[in-house]
Amino acid sequence: MNAPTPEAQASPDSRRDIVGLARDQLAAEIAAMGEPAFRARQLWHWLYARGGRDFSRMTTMSKDFRAALEMRYRVSRPAIAQHQQSEDGTQKWLLRLADGSAVESVHIPEDGRGTLCVSSQVGCTLTCRFCHTGTQRMVRNLSAGEILGQILLARDEFGEWPAPSTNRRLTNIVMMGMGEPLYNYDNVAQALRIAMDPEGLAISRRKITLSTAGVAPLIKRVGAELGVMLAISLHAVHDELRDRIVPINKKYPIAELLRACRDYPPLKNARRITFEYVMLKGVNDSTADARELVRLIAGIPSKVNLIPFNAWPGAPFECSSNAAIERFAQVVMAAGYPSPVRTPRGRDILAACGQLKSASEKTRKSARAMDDPAPPATA
Ligand code: SAH
Repeated sequence: MNAPTPEAQASPDSRRDIVGLARDQLAAEIAAMGEPAFRARQLWHWLYARGGRDFSRMTTMSKDFRAALEMRYRVSRPAIAQHQQSEDGTQKWLLRLADGSAVESVHIPEDGRGTLCVSSQVGCTLTCRFCHTGTQRMVRNLSAGEILGQILLARDEFGEWPAPSTNRRLTNIVMMGMGEPLYNYDNVAQALRIAMDPEGLAISRRKITLSTAGVAPLIKRVGAELGVMLAISLHAVHDELRDRIVPINKKYPIAELLRACRDYPPLKNARRITFEYVMLKGVNDSTADARELVRLIAGIPSKVNLIPFNAWPGAPFECSSNAAIERFAQVVMAAGYPSPVRTPRGRDILAACGQLKSASEKTRKSARAMDDPAPPATA
């Protein structure tokens, strides 16, 4: 069922993918092979600090052990189906997964840092009205290995194994690609734990941002178990409008969502929540909306990221004028909240927020169950 990887000549490759196994799972596998515990640690280092893909070259381990690993496991990466580069330096990869479905990840270079925007699902079930991904038909959860694979692949592409201490091209991760990360919590959490492991990729939790459309009951767990930065796709300040443009609001309305934000454990550590707010002309961009926003988030250490609407073919909205965005930002700023306007990046290659959509022929849903299934986009 798995497509052969370059390492595996025999097809089909029935070996298990070692990428994405949690540290304790890997330790258990190695112990079951009769090897001492330090071998698991060495292997982890090869996989996640050195980016090793070929067991035979992991030369700090015995030849027999390497051969035994080779028999049992493969070290997979998603295959690059398409690569595009924007005039502003943003890059987008369309990645083909072992079952033939596809996701996109995007790299956004900035002065002195670089952010990888990672997908958590093939498509998305949420149907937010302004988001292109929500119009995609096929939806399934990505495995931990497939989520992590996007990060590993970017490191491969940049040749950042081991990661250089300065001028790194990949410094930050945002779970802001395709899908709702909190509808795939377990796999996202497993991938992020591996990404944060200090003996591997060692990406600090402060450099990882998880964005959710508002799965309120899981927000506390994100804080307690992962401690990463949290972003909330708010986009509207009245339930009536939010019900329409971010339909998950019918399940978890604004008051419940903000209650979960107030209780977000890392806030006690002088951390801030980011509220994302897409600027839609004549829909949610009045100064009255801005005043209501400030009233809603009162007391929550936060910043408000204003996102100019990125259009896509057939989109039913227009972007607010610069003047309207400016007026909105002034009100938020005057109340004491930073309100940066997010510069659109990679619009020319449809890589900007909300533009990701990988055409997928399949409509069949994966057998893999969703944590909290919402109606599929085309139901
Ligand atoms: N499902 C998660 C992760 C997606 S993050 C979430 O909703 O937060 C992508 C961000 O881009 C979200 O804030 C999303 O609402 C926003 N977005 C979606 N479509 C957009 C568009 N066309 N223009 C600007 N921002 C958009």
